[in-house]
Amino acid sequence: MPLVHVDPFEPDPAVIERAAELLRAGRLVAFPTETVYGLGANALDPEAVARIYEAKGRPSYNPLIVHVSDAAAARSVVREWNDRAEGLATAFWPGPITLVLPKRAEVPDAVTAGLDTVGVRVPSHPVARALLLAAGIPIAAPSANPSMMVSPTLGAHVEGSLGERVDLIIDAGPTPVGIESTVIDVSHAMPTLLRPGTITVPEIEAVVGPIAIASGAAEGVARASPGMMERHYAPRARLVVVEPADVERVLADERAAGRRVGALLISAPTAIDRSIILVLVPADPAVYAQRLYSALHAFDEAGCEVVVVERVPEGVEWLGVRDRVGRAGR
Ligand code: AMP
Ligand code: MG
Repeated sequence: MPLVHVDPFEPDPAVIERAAELLRAGRLVAFPTETVYGLGANALDPEAVARIYEAKGRPSYNPLIVHVSDAAAARSVVREWNDRAEGLATAFWPGPITLVLPKRAEVPDAVTAGLDTVGVRVPSHPVARALLLAAGIPIAAPSANPSMMVSPTLGAHVEGSLGERVDLIIDAGPTPVGIESTVIDVSHAMPTLLRPGTITVPEIEAVVGPIAIASGAAEGVARASPGMMERHYAPRARLVVVEPADVERVLADERAAGRRVGALLISAPTAIDRSIILVLVPADPAVYAQRLYSALHAFDEAGCEVVVVERVPEGVEWLGVRDRVGRAGR
């Protein structure tokens, strides 16, 4: 098996060096970022990038995010750098925000799905940082899961779904953020939020002023931007999002119908059938995000046919979680 364990804060330099060599040789390495596990390849090598699409079964129109070690390295893959980019990079990098900017010619079309722009990000996870420094190249890395499936937050999720299609999996335990990065297009005067994440709209607006929100980015419905497919991040089980007051009734109905049922709840139920696979998450958007995908993976592993999800609270800080729950439920 190509999976090796490393310490999340002080990864073994020998493992990092081996991974960096593989990347420079055009191979695929799955590694933890603070958001989810990424499936990395040399972003400047079209054949290596093609391997990502092949391993994931990813449609060629869905662009990849390029990971770099710092803002200077980001400037070497983009054609234009502006005040919006500078402000957001200074405020949030390293961290879970991707900036979309006009690409340089050196960035292959395969990375950007033919677009003239590229999404670029400086991750904060010590393993991702060590790998970027050792490899000395920009690393294109979408989430390390088969296309349309739930993103991996554990090395075991990658191993179970992509397995031998990856040359090396670096496992450093659970990813701390748990959902994919906030994606913001800063190539125009008015920045546009393309995908919500854990960095919120008010936090972004405090840096760059008012931003536009791409249609659908607010509620997890289909949007025009490439790759923003309506159904995405989806488990095998059917998800049913219900109001807090209806949770117990819907759970009872699903059980009565003889289905294998999971429940992802914020409020503890007063009574619950013991056959129901229950995951309780606190009403804290950061903790919810961190646990959401591992819960969805666990429901699939338990063979749940339906998962009853208590509707998450309103509020800007829940936008990223709400978007992913919405997509998983279609
Ligand atoms: P993933 O790496 O799986 O988290 O997905 C990357 C996502 O980032 C894509 O599905 C797009 O939604 C977005 N993205 C990446 N590059 C661009 C770009 N150049 N323009 C617009 N969106 C992008
Ligand atoms: Mg993905």
